[in-house]
Amino acid sequence: MAISARCGVCFLRGTEMNFRIGHRRRRIFEGKAKVLFEGPEPGTLVQYFKDDASAFNNQKRGTIVGKGVLNNRISEYLMTKLGGIGVPTHFMRRLNMREQLIRQVEIIPVEIVVRNIVAGSLAKRFGLPEGVVLPRSIVEFYYKKDELGKPMVTDEHITAFGWASPQEIDEIMALSLRINDFLSGIFLGIGLKLVDFKLEFGRLWDNDELRIVLADEISPDNCRLWDVKTNEKMDKDRFSCDLGRVEEAYQEVARRLGIMPEVAAITPESEKDK
Ligand code: 5GP
Repeated sequence: MAISARCGVCFLRGTEMNFRIGHRRRRIFEGKAKVLFEGPEPGTLVQYFKDDASAFNNQKRGTIVGKGVLNNRISEYLMTKLGGIGVPTHFMRRLNMREQLIRQVEIIPVEIVVRNIVAGSLAKRFGLPEGVVLPRSIVEFYYKKDELGKPMVTDEHITAFGWASPQEIDEIMALSLRINDFLSGIFLGIGLKLVDFKLEFGRLWDNDELRIVLADEISPDNCRLWDVKTNEKMDKDRFSCDLGRVEEAYQEVARRLGIMPEVAAITPESEKDK
């Protein structure tokens, strides 16, 4: 794998100051890889990307140095591209190295996984060899509840428990498949196979109309990306499966997308940044 060894050491002063301003904002929610702060305007939030990593439903934890900076950039890039083809997203703009301004949405408690190639839990569940190309993309739903180990659910559960209406599920399915087509093309263009990925959607009032919008992030944290030539894993599985060169894989994805941070601000997340 042609991995870039570039890894800088310096911070921009302005960026540091932005972190400090962000620091004083009210913390709305802290997840495994991100923190949400109150935004500057009503209906907005600041999404802060941490270097913390977890796998196997939080059983394995660690740090991927610089991941937050790279995922902030990668997600900005992909969400902006998706916005460009008419996919509504929560993304507004990147604020600094680790933060982006997003629209506050009501998160639908269902995670959508789209699969193109057999890997991960699909391989385990059905005893299939990793790497088999699926005859057509598979879309799965999981209840977003860590305490329950995120059980797989069907649209019957989603509608019966009132998590989303049948119309919303149709919209989510259509958007997910469109996102899959578009992202598969982008990644193929930089020599990566989009094996599978996880999406989250939310509801947003827009001119008296309730809309479904893409939320969360799109990055090597929630996408499996394999090198087209070598099948080498270029995503969080390098951390989960102790494959080594984890930071380099995230950097390589950013480098291939042409968005490796200019000032090489890939530094550890210090206490003052949190
Ligand atoms: P699997 O079900 O095979 O473990 O995961 C399928 C896809 O969804 C992978 O690309 C994986 O990264 C993503 N995914 C599943 N659950 C989570 C999660 O809790 N967090 C993140 N970031 N991604 C997930």
